[in-house]
Amino acid sequence: MAQEAIEARVAALPAESRPLLECVGRTLRQDIYAERDNPPFDRVCMDGIAVNSEAMARGLRRYRIEATQAAGSPAQTLSVPENAIEVMTGAMLPVGTDCIIPLEEYELADGIVNIRDPVSAEPWRNVQRRGADSQPGVAMLLQGVRLGAPEIAVAASAGLARVEVSREPRFMVVSTGDELVDPGQPIAEHQVRRSNAYAVVAALRERGFGQVENDHIPDDGKLMQDRLARHLSRHDVLILSGGVSKGRFDLVPGVLKNLGVEEVFYQVAQRPGMPMWFGIGPAGQSVFGLPGNPVSTLVCLIRYVVPAMARAMGARPVEPEPVVLCSSVRSRHSFAYFLPVSVHHDESGRRNAVPRAPNGPGDFLALTEAGGFLELPPRSEPFPKGFVAQFYHW
Ligand code: AMP
Ligand code: MG
Repeated sequence: MAQEAIEARVAALPAESRPLLECVGRTLRQDIYAERDNPPFDRVCMDGIAVNSEAMARGLRRYRIEATQAAGSPAQTLSVPENAIEVMTGAMLPVGTDCIIPLEEYELADGIVNIRDPVSAEPWRNVQRRGADSQPGVAMLLQGVRLGAPEIAVAASAGLARVEVSREPRFMVVSTGDELVDPGQPIAEHQVRRSNAYAVVAALRERGFGQVENDHIPDDGKLMQDRLARHLSRHDVLILSGGVSKGRFDLVPGVLKNLGVEEVFYQVAQRPGMPMWFGIGPAGQSVFGLPGNPVSTLVCLIRYVVPAMARAMGARPVEPEPVVLCSSVRSRHSFAYFLPVSVHHDESGRRNAVPRAPNGPGDFLALTEAGGFLELPPRSEPFPKGFVAQFYHW
């Protein structure tokens, strides 16, 4: 299996310590423990007054406000249970009080509070007890999680200015082919837009990879060798498109071999994407030779490269989702078949896949109507309506 062969060989990226806000979207490489109890003190949850619940239980409804307790100040102490302390949300609970009456529930005039009846005053009403959310010594985040907004908040609450995360892979996306012309440049009838490199860069950036460069190399063996040597010396991952079939100008496998890149596999029993090439460079670089047909390039990138890079960063790849075919589909016999589909939820929550087969291998437009593609296994009979297969998002 191509995926296992790739994952067995792709090198894990080292961990590095980065300032917290540079770690958004990265994979955590350390466990994070609470710095102290959370909340760190008995915390007032409403604006109002803090009272002693026993005084309330004795029927006392009139209190003199003796002080004000704001958030960010050390706890004050209530002098007598017949008084109250005005409190703000987020403040420490004053010593000698155990209950917060919110300001909607009383009248205040000249420093005297009159509580409206009926008001409940059980102990710890509107107080979040110290340590209720987490306690020191208990891991709050384990290594391997992706750091989104809530995880960054947890690391900040643990007092960490920097955390250990996986280094980002340095990608070089290389399109090959004499026929290709960048958008923005004049184009002749015999030429083709260099759309693959754009699709690959877009898919990587969408997944949060920040270090993605790209280059274009014509079908010239000498030139290709020089440029790929340079890219190998500066990047962890090379993603090439085109030049991996068996035509006279498909120079990529030979050039990679000359550069000492070890071939792990060449050709996969799948359609589209059969000519895919994968190897490991002399310094452990991952080198993916993706077929040039635009649909193949994107499918192979998402099916193989993206999950392998998630694992290299110590993260669990996004799992494909099972979906249900809503019409029968012809099989590709001994080949796995990647079929673009759009997915629709029916009333029962079932996810139904509507085939959106492209017209041909260059039909990018069809892909805009599909949310992704299905992987249909090799099989001699057609896939019936109702067949369950794995769905990958673009
Ligand atoms: P190749 O694998 O180099 O034989 O390319 C297969 C087909 O994909 C040819 O029709 C190429 O013109 C096309 N192709 C290759 N690379 C790209 C690219 N970067 N963008 C768009 N089409 C491409
Ligand atoms: Mg080519």
